[in-house]
Parts: sequence; structure tokens; C-alpha cells
Amino acid sequence: MLHSPILPGSKLGILGGGQLGRMFAIAARKMGYRVHAYEAAPDSPAGQVSDLEVCAPYDDLESVARFARGVDVVTFEFENIPLAAVEAAAAIVPVRPAGRALHICQNREREKNFLRDAGFPCAGFEVVTCPDTLAAALARIGTPSVLKTADFGYDGKGQLKLAGRVDPVSTWKAFGGGRAVLEQFVPFEAELSVVVARGLDGAVAAFPVCENIHTRHILDLTIVPGRFSEATGARAVNLAGQIARELDIVGLLAVEMFLLADGEILVNELAPRPHNSGHFSFDACVTSQFEQQLRAVCGLPLGSTELLAPAVMKNLLGDLWGEGEPGWPALLANPALKLHLYGKSEARPGRKMGHLCLLGNQSESLAFLEAAFRRAPGDPA
Ligand code: AMP
Repeated sequence: MLHSPILPGSKLGILGGGQLGRMFAIAARKMGYRVHAYEAAPDSPAGQVSDLEVCAPYDDLESVARFARGVDVVTFEFENIPLAAVEAAAAIVPVRPAGRALHICQNREREKNFLRDAGFPCAGFEVVTCPDTLAAALARIGTPSVLKTADFGYDGKGQLKLAGRVDPVSTWKAFGGGRAVLEQFVPFEAELSVVVARGLDGAVAAFPVCENIHTRHILDLTIVPGRFSEATGARAVNLAGQIARELDIVGLLAVEMFLLADGEILVNELAPRPHNSGHFSFDACVTSQFEQQLRAVCGLPLGSTELLAPAVMKNLLGDLWGEGEPGWPALLANPALKLHLYGKSEARPGRKMGHLCLLGNQSESLAFLEAAFRRAPGDPA
């Protein structure tokens, strides 16, 4: 079936009011679209820059339906949206990517089963639901391993690393129960990610491969292009494209991966939306990941993902606000630095408040960040 493209001037609905929605809304408004953001709490990062902010919970399906009636297409900026809300919207307007991809990617058990069943490489895992199944999983997978909640996990939340001899009963109790996945610990050499877009016509375009450095399970730095061999980069891009096709994505898919010492790549996580590791594209690519999401969900041709300059992205977490506002003028004294702040009023430890993108020579960018952030919080220069 042919769909006519959704053109500038149309209204785009975004479920979720976080920074990914904010950057999507900025890209959309630059192109003359109207943006409606749906988020439980008022004055959200996305709501602040949208034409309309609708504040209601996701289980208020009447509000979701009313929201959908006011827009031409709905997309989302985080995964933990109940499927019922997506279906309520999809009964009225196209939701892109479709609910199936969201349903798979919002739960580790479904995501890992999908990857394994489709033959994509990932770490060995077992589903765990009680002390007995944990004991059986430990017998097969052993330690070190990582126990992860099936639902609502991100940035290392709901994860427990298991090492040495483990007592399944006390471990399961300490973990808090529910459904979980026990995963082999991967002794990776590096972490990488690829953000890939897939259009309504099936065209696929990948952004350059990112090298990601996490601190305490949260992304700290993304280096682009990642410092990998050409063969590794090509394999990562190929994998991401294949997964996007298999999931029938219309929109974006971020694929996080581990690189092993022997060159093998394992898929760690999927996200059917823009991704933190793709933020560099806002400043460093012909088309940003947010514009690309818009192009894909509006049924427009995809844009060029060409990298205009090497980039280093650094996340700014709430911890930096420990002694007041960080010293922006000193950071901005670097003329190749782009500052992005998300409009969040409360800085909490671990909360993503903004990011920096440095363009140009990567070694110089990394040395600059090392010098700036080695110092006390609030005194970056
Ligand atoms: P996740 O929320 O699953 O993306 O995990 C966050 C981070 O924890 C990853 O980016 C890795 O740095 C680390 N991690 C997660 N799973 C594993 C694993 N199976 N082996 C080693 N490190 C892991």
C-alpha cells in the first residue's frame, strides 16, 4: 500500500517527554512541523520546546486516544510505554515504529529470545523466575554472570553481577523477585553501537559506528568514528541493518554491542528510538538521528548520515551539579564544543542533564575533557 508522506506543517505526536523527545521536537520545528508531546509530568524537556504538552498518564487510554486524534503520526522516545497505550494510539493514527518492535525491545526476555530465535549473536542467557530456576540457570551459565530484570531495565538499573559461589535463595531474595534473565558476563574489549534508520519504503541508512565508554553502567563518552577496524565496523553496521529489517522498523533502531578479543561481536541491547550514543549526530552529521527519525516516521526519503567531522560526546550527569552550576564559560572557551542542556530543573546523581559534543581531532577532544573533568564538580576548567 502506498502512503503519502507527512509534510511540513503537519502535527507530530511524541510519546515521552525526555531529552530524546526534546531533540526530536527541535529538529521537527526547524523543519516547520508542529509537535505535541505526551508526558505525565508538566514542564518536561520535550514539552518545553513543543507546540503542545499533554500531561496525562499512559494508562489513561482516553487521553492517549484524544492525543492521537490531534496529530498525523505518533512516535516515541522511550521504550517503557505500555502496549495498550500504543495500541490505543495506533487505532487512530500510524504509530511508527509499530507496537511489535516496541513490545519486543521493552522487555529483556522477549528481546533476547527474539535475537536468539532470529540467529543474531548474543551472550548466553537463561530466563529466571524463582530460586529454583536461578539455581538451574547458574548450573548452565555459571559465574561471572549478570542477573537482569526482564522489565524496565536501563543504565544498569535492575542488574546484579554474580561472581564466585552464589546462593540462589538469598540472591533471588536480594534481587527482589519478578522475571529476570541470567546472562553470561562478557569480557569485552570494547562497547560499540550503531543507530540505523529504516524508511517506510524499506531503505536503510546507518550512522557511523560509535565507540562507547560507560562509567558505573551509564554511558560517559561516545567516540565517533569508533576506533575499530574497517571489518568490525562493517560487521556492526550489517548486523544493525539486519535486525532493523527483522523487526520491520519504520524509524530508528539503536543496537548496542560488545566487541570480543577475537573480533566477534555480540548484541547487548536494542532500542527502537534515538539513542544517547547517537547524540553526536546532532552536531556532526549531515542529518541528525532526530531528523532521520522524523524523515522515517513521516514516510520521507532518509537523509545522508555522513560524518562532517570526528566527534566526541560526553554526557553531563547530575553529579556535576554537586557544588552548584558547572562552569559553562570555561567549557565554552573551547570553540569546537557544543553544549546541550535538557531543561531539567532538578540535578540528581546519575540523571542525564545534558551533553557536550566536541568536533575535530579526537585525541585533542579527549585530552580537553580529561583536563576539564578531572577537577572538582562545578569547576570544570
Ligand atoms: P545494559 O543496561 O544491559 O545495557 O547494561 C549496561 C552496561 O552494563 C553495558 O553497557 C555494559 O557496560 C555492562 N554490561 C551489561 N551486561 C553485561 C554483560 N553480560 N557482560 C559484561 N558487561 C555487561
